[in-house]
Amino acid sequence: MLNKKSLKDLDFAGKRVLVRCDFNVPLDEHGNITDDTRITSSLPTIEYLVDKGAKVILMSHLGRPKGEPNKKYSLEPVVKRLGELLNKEITFLQDDKVVSFDVKDKAASMVNGQVALLENTRFRKEEEKNEEEFSKDLASLGELYVNDAFGTSHRAHASNVGVSRYLPSSVGFLVEKEISIMGKALELPEKPFVAILGGAKVSDKIGVIENLLNVVDSIIIGGGMAFTFFKAKGYEIGQSLLEEDKVQLAGELLEKAEKVGVKILLPVDVVVAKEFKNDTEFMTVNLNNIPKNMMGLDIGKKTIELFTGEINKANTVVWNGPMGVFEMDNFAKGTMAIAKALAESKGTTIVGGGDSASAVEKSGFAHRITHISTGGGASLELLEGKTLPGIEAISDR
Ligand code: AMP
Repeated sequence: MLNKKSLKDLDFAGKRVLVRCDFNVPLDEHGNITDDTRITSSLPTIEYLVDKGAKVILMSHLGRPKGEPNKKYSLEPVVKRLGELLNKEITFLQDDKVVSFDVKDKAASMVNGQVALLENTRFRKEEEKNEEEFSKDLASLGELYVNDAFGTSHRAHASNVGVSRYLPSSVGFLVEKEISIMGKALELPEKPFVAILGGAKVSDKIGVIENLLNVVDSIIIGGGMAFTFFKAKGYEIGQSLLEEDKVQLAGELLEKAEKVGVKILLPVDVVVAKEFKNDTEFMTVNLNNIPKNMMGLDIGKKTIELFTGEINKANTVVWNGPMGVFEMDNFAKGTMAIAKALAESKGTTIVGGGDSASAVEKSGFAHRITHISTGGGASLELLEGKTLPGIEAISDR
């Protein structure tokens, strides 16, 4: 399936290995890491390389420092957490320029099994431009390159794509796992295959729906995006989220689905609220009864039953996007119920990253999901059937 080199295809002993990780972790206002999933997901690759006697030089971005050094986005908290998780001292090659003579000297004198981390690659404006000189400079630190940053693989930046032009490369264990699980679901799914789409915008998911129509048996649509479909079907949607310019397209997608025999399930009842906040008046109404002055913020009970029934029948389930405004407790029930349905499914269950991943974490069912992706944007692009530049750049087998 994946025609790219994997870790087992290269000999890392005694070599300086440049590894692109995705350490883009959420931080609170004091700079504490609030979710270290992305760091723990990188451990298998790092431990493997240490075990093989490599000199491991890690790189990552964090947040959006906009091409300039900014202490707020330093990778220092990651150095600390990674050291705790690996039970090993991590050398922080801290430098506002990311690569410098000093960093090059230190990298050159590393010993086998040592692990070092560069400063945030986005401290340099050249990073997101995939600029040649910066890519070369980064590549000069290593002799081999490993891409294990699934979360950034839909971007072509210097630290994930640029460096690959100058070094023999492979994907890491995390990228391999992410691609093979999603790849298998899309290429050889065990049927019935159900996709669940939610979230705020239809526009973000058009490509996904179009591509999924070729592979799935049914698509469940919830969240804010459902209301543009309701509008296309002629329903009153009150103050609910609407993408006026996508109404026609939503109608066309429904027609196309019917033509190709893919069942589309939309909510049959919704929780409507007076205002977009948790503490406001709310009630559940049938789809044909949405009051003009209220907005739909979650799916109702009957919809939960309908969607759960469909999920129960599936052997493959892919979920991307919450069913409602799950950040507010009063409107989180639909999303939590879907997380529970996935947890209880007998089939393969895959959750795209981003909001659906945090919703599943919040539900307490994360450990009962087959795979939770570490990359929201990247997994969406896979669902759209696109190739990811960060993977494409890796040496072929
Ligand atoms: P996305 O980034 O497109 O996956 O959208 C996720 C966001 O959609 C979350 O922050 C949810 O609060 C929001 N969302 C889900 N359902 C609704 C809804 N019915 N109305 C407004 N926002 C919603």
